[in-house]
Amino acid sequence: MTDLIDKTALVIGAGRAGSAATRLLVDRGAVVRLLDKEPKADADWPRDRVESGSDSDPGAIDGVDLVVPSPGVARTHSLLDAAVAAGIPVWSEIELAARFLRCPIVAITGTNGKSTTTVLIGDILAAAGHSVFVGGNLGTPLAESASGTERYDYAVVEVSSFQLEWIDSFRPRVAVWLNLTPDHLDRYDGIDDYEDTKANLLRQLRADDVAVLNRDDPRVWRHREEVAGEVFSFGADAVGEGVFLDNDFAVVRRSGSERRIALGGRPLRGAHNRENMMAAIAVAAVLDIPLDAVDAALDSARGLPHRLEAVGEKSGVRYFDDSKATNVGAVEKSIASFDDGVIVLLGGSDKGGDFASLRELIAQRVDRVICFGADGASIAAQLDPSCPSDLVAGLADAVAMAAARARSGQVVLLAPGCASFDEFRDYTERGRRFAEMVEAL
Ligand code: ADP
Repeated sequence: MTDLIDKTALVIGAGRAGSAATRLLVDRGAVVRLLDKEPKADADWPRDRVESGSDSDPGAIDGVDLVVPSPGVARTHSLLDAAVAAGIPVWSEIELAARFLRCPIVAITGTNGKSTTTVLIGDILAAAGHSVFVGGNLGTPLAESASGTERYDYAVVEVSSFQLEWIDSFRPRVAVWLNLTPDHLDRYDGIDDYEDTKANLLRQLRADDVAVLNRDDPRVWRHREEVAGEVFSFGADAVGEGVFLDNDFAVVRRSGSERRIALGGRPLRGAHNRENMMAAIAVAAVLDIPLDAVDAALDSARGLPHRLEAVGEKSGVRYFDDSKATNVGAVEKSIASFDDGVIVLLGGSDKGGDFASLRELIAQRVDRVICFGADGASIAAQLDPSCPSDLVAGLADAVAMAAARARSGQVVLLAPGCASFDEFRDYTERGRRFAEMVEAL
């Protein structure tokens, strides 16, 4: 169904993705019922095409031809159940958008590193002279690119598991899957369910498409058998075809040729960013992008805000904001970026993370753990009893405690491993407030 003229679409969630979907649907001639907790009227919408309503109204489904849930809407929402039972198509915003997009898609998913890798791939393609849309889960929703008149050579799209819940034809030319560690266990029935949803990214690939997969992540790598197209992988150890590490270099072996690209000395630091860089290099190889464009983009890449960002030094103590480390897998990489002397701040709204799995790493590199926020106490209870730790109420108390405890040469790292909603609107606000608190010390 790509003819939407006078079709009635139900958009659930009036945030950024829902608004972008609404605009696209209206541009294509559909009539939209836009639902949120409360009806949200936007003066800009044409009144005869968009009607706002509440998502708790069961009658909202009557007469609807298509349902577009926003990423924040749980799969168990009663209107989605009703749509499925009635045989009404349900499309996520990326599914809708991709149906109107005329350029190839490079889609990036994974538990961590999506935004960093998405931006890096966008930079590489732009450095090679291509016009590129970069967005999706990060920044501009894909539906905005599809409704604009601008033409792109590529759309580089960050895709979250929530956006992969309702797709049936979304088909990237290159699908990148970086890693999979526990996250969003408040929304999924365990890690296998979460993994299975992520794997939807690979299911529409055809023979001439490519999946770029992480060989070192067993939950990613085991899906290679399901890929109908080519698998081009990245990982630490040498392989006949793919990208691998050789000291400070990434080696790319493809179609009988071998190229080497330096990773050392680049602004993106840490073992996790080597993985992100290897993934981006693999995409560049698949798309035949010249090496000098890759080189230029790797050199100019700056880490994104709130991802292991240095935010100040006070009395010889360095402070880092990794507010985006919202799950245990990201905390692990974050701590592993430092050799020792770390005071780590953990806490917020727990998404079901297994903090006990950090015990060994904490013993090796962390001097002290400060737990804070709504789930601080339950996190503290998962630490090794011999680990020096404090339990405080909120982030401000955690910063004050860290400053009081820290000695010159140590690092204070906000890598909370949790969502921020107990105290903040989102991770950006948490990171910004942290930087302000550090500044005020
Ligand atoms: P996402 O968009 O998937 O959340 P980001 O690029 O915003 O990913 O990074 C989120 C957090 O995950 C960062 O704070 C960083 O510490 C960590 N991280 C980044 N890349 C990786 C990776 N490849 N593996 C594990 N953790 C990573």
